[in-house]
Amino acid sequence: MREAEPVVRVEGAYEVAPDLLVIPDRRVQLVPNVGLIGGEEAVLVVETGMGPENAAEVLRFAAEYARGRRLYLTTTHFHPEHAFGARVFAGAATYLANRAQAEDQKVKGPGYLEMFREFGPLVARHLDGVELTAPDVVYDHSYDLDLGGRVVRLRPTGRAHSKGDQVVTVPDAGVMFTGDLVEARQFAIFPWFPPHDTDVSGLRWLVVLERLADERPGIVVPGHGEVGGPGLLADVRDYLRLLRDETWARRDSAMGEETIAEEVHAVMLARHPEWEGREWIEKGVRCLCAEHGAGHA
Ligand SMILES: [Zn+2]
Repeated sequence: MREAEPVVRVEGAYEVAPDLLVIPDRRVQLVPNVGLIGGEEAVLVVETGMGPENAAEVLRFAAEYARGRRLYLTTTHFHPEHAFGARVFAGAATYLANRAQAEDQKVKGPGYLEMFREFGPLVARHLDGVELTAPDVVYDHSYDLDLGGRVVRLRPTGRAHSKGDQVVTVPDAGVMFTGDLVEARQFAIFPWFPPHDTDVSGLRWLVVLERLADERPGIVVPGHGEVGGPGLLADVRDYLRLLRDETWARRDSAMGEETIAEEVHAVMLARHPEWEGREWIEKGVRCLCAEHGAGHA
């Protein structure tokens, strides 16, 4: 992996809707889009950035923006750049998350901390001092958070990019935070790391995206990449569908996995020559090979 320093730059924050800010990722790897959603009485922060230094900066910025309003925190899923700064918010914000995500953090968090430390010295430095922390509030089905004059909906999607993905929507503003279920101008991130982590499901992910795309939110904040409209959801849905179809057509003809990965890689590059994250195509193919047949059942 090419290494860039994974730093959240709060000075880039801008309003995508009234009292609703995004701190953009500037297309830097391992920096997520961070959200601040304000109501009359409280502000919800979405994502912490990776490690205590980023989280402290996000918290400082959020506290200043809140001007005395109460703070809440949620994260879209447990991956390090999204959630491994939550400890810094303890005492300053109430941390809410869905049960499957809380489980992911507990079960997978320590392994991901070790794995990400291997990515390079800059990433490792940002992971120094990370303490994994359980959410203050864990909910089961869905959670409507009243910020005062504005209700934010937290909804788990079921297993897709991870076991515990959660989508955050702001109905009055037509805004949806998708976490890594959606990236802009990037091949879908398949954290397919057998035997350590095989929770990602291309098939379930596709079903989730079909559902989310049907909702047609006006503004979509992806996990990584530029904020966009409902077209972002359609792009990922179409990509996942094509990835499945191209992979399975070859699998049906009993082609070997290496050859399938090579051929599908070429098909996808031809379709999306401008997209980044090419290393994720092969992982997606391998995940869908493992899921081959499940759709016929
Ligand atoms: Zn992720």
